[in-house]
Amino acid sequence: MANRRTAVIVGSGVGGLALANILAKAGYEVTVYEKNDTAGGRMGVIKKKGFTFDTGPSWYLMKDVFTDYFRLFGKTTSNYYDLARLDPAYRVFFETMDPTVIKGNMEADTETFESLEHGAASRLRKYVTRAESNYNIALKYFLYNPFKRPSNLLKKDLLLALPGFAGVFTRSLHGYVSSNFRRKELQQILEYPSVFLGASPFNTPALYQLMSYLDFNEGVFYPKKKGMYAVADALCKLGAELGVEYKFNSDVTKIVVKDGNATGIIANKSFVSADIVVSNADLHFTETQLLDQKHQSYPAKYWKKRKAGPSALLLFLGVKGSLPELEHHNLFFVKDWRQNFDQIYKYKSWPKSASMYVSKTTATDKSTAPKNHENVFVLVPLPSGASPGRSEIDKLIEVYLAQLEELSGIKDLRQRIVLKEIYTPDHFGDAFNSWLNTALGMSHTLRQSAFLRPSVKSKKVDNLYYVGAGSQPGIGVPMCIISAQLVYKYLVQDWSSSAPSTIERSVL
Ligand SMILES: Cc1cc2nc3c(=O)[nH]c(=O)nc-3n(C[C@H](O)[C@H](O)[C@H](O)COP(=O)(O)OP(=O)(O)OC[C@H]3O[C@@H](n4cnc5c(N)ncnc54)[C@H](O)[C@@H]3O)c2cc1C
Repeated sequence: MANRRTAVIVGSGVGGLALANILAKAGYEVTVYEKNDTAGGRMGVIKKKGFTFDTGPSWYLMKDVFTDYFRLFGKTTSNYYDLARLDPAYRVFFETMDPTVIKGNMEADTETFESLEHGAASRLRKYVTRAESNYNIALKYFLYNPFKRPSNLLKKDLLLALPGFAGVFTRSLHGYVSSNFRRKELQQILEYPSVFLGASPFNTPALYQLMSYLDFNEGVFYPKKKGMYAVADALCKLGAELGVEYKFNSDVTKIVVKDGNATGIIANKSFVSADIVVSNADLHFTETQLLDQKHQSYPAKYWKKRKAGPSALLLFLGVKGSLPELEHHNLFFVKDWRQNFDQIYKYKSWPKSASMYVSKTTATDKSTAPKNHENVFVLVPLPSGASPGRSEIDKLIEVYLAQLEELSGIKDLRQRIVLKEIYTPDHFGDAFNSWLNTALGMSHTLRQSAFLRPSVKSKKVDNLYYVGAGSQPGIGVPMCIISAQLVYKYLVQDWSSSAPSTIERSVL
């Protein structure tokens, strides 16, 4: 048998793991080099004193993307994990009114909206119908599209939808939501998904209203008894079945290029040759640190004009007793909504009063904490590009926990903490070489979305590819899984806008 072609992948984030399996199925001998000692990148896990915390993603959204990916290998997600649909999808705490829940059930949620604003029920129905249509268009024409052939956008159903669709590119999510709903709290519920995209609702296109289809209609899921890390685990198990090799504690310091071709990498100071090289490491780091200047498609000056998504303060809390006040997912919204976003994105200052996300996985999975304890994860978005000192962080933690106690009514939360792990903004730079310590990557502003986001293929170096949140289609676990399929489409020169239906050995 002829020698198999070799592929090296720098980084074992979701995108790197997902692509490794695709390349192995396509016949490549694949090795993944990861600087840390575990797989998953931002999808991590902490196990301590009987508590198990997911350290990154906690919302399992766009479940069909996962199903379609595993189908490429003749598998289903249930070969690796089972999903629970969360009911309610989440609880929202406000400074201005009592908490409310979003059930992910239009019947109940329209009633909730109507109880808060006359006429909001029918407007929500229309909003979610529009979100569904935009979501389906995005899936069919944009997310899996390498944008190499403009003609594949000249499709009848897309052209018919265009007049309405164009409007959602030209205005902000906030502009669009506030023209439909007057009440501030309803606006907040419909605008918060921009945070998943590392963006402010005041500076992200209204197109992203499509995210509301997911939480109001499709539903929010959770891998039962395994947590989100189940996804990284499943990708690695599949990889082991396909013969992917993982090399941990392997810091890659260079992508070697000869005559315009990537010939391999330097990992732990040794040269490793490969027929193709893929970087799943942070794209800014890959471009500006792993490549010589003449080989950079996105050099330092490119990044000066780009907007980074937020960094974050993460708290992993083991709490004694029960916390019935919290659901699995909880959102805390401050009344100075715009000011909070401006502090993070514009002024780069530490919010003294911050909107935040809190999860309590013990609502769904008791095994994530010892008996009679709760597992609480707190995420406070903070500005990227700055890093508060330790004493500043300690003060901020007290402020944010006091705010959480006040809004949730859990007066003694701080006294009941038996375990506290902290990830400061520096964590993202230290652990993942993240640009400006961003937790999520390049923000999904209009200029940094769809075909305006970096491609998965280097413009300067043949056989060098990128996979993960930094390139198309963007941030989020399902997006990174799609990104892996985009690399495959480049390899087989499939310029259609649809997801690949099989993985062929034809790239050999
Ligand atoms: C706190 C938080 C909450 C989130 N919540 C959600 C959510 O609820 N739902 C959702 O879908 N998404 C969520 N996301 C986003 C999602 O987790 C990411 O978009 C996705 O996991 C990024 O994957 P990636 O493929 O880009 O790789 P990354 O996770 O960025 O991994 C890249 C890997 O490359 C490695 N690497 C870097 N440099 C080198 C080097 N020189 N040599 C070797 N290896 C290197 C890193 O160590 C890392 O393992 C969240 C992210 C965070 C941080």
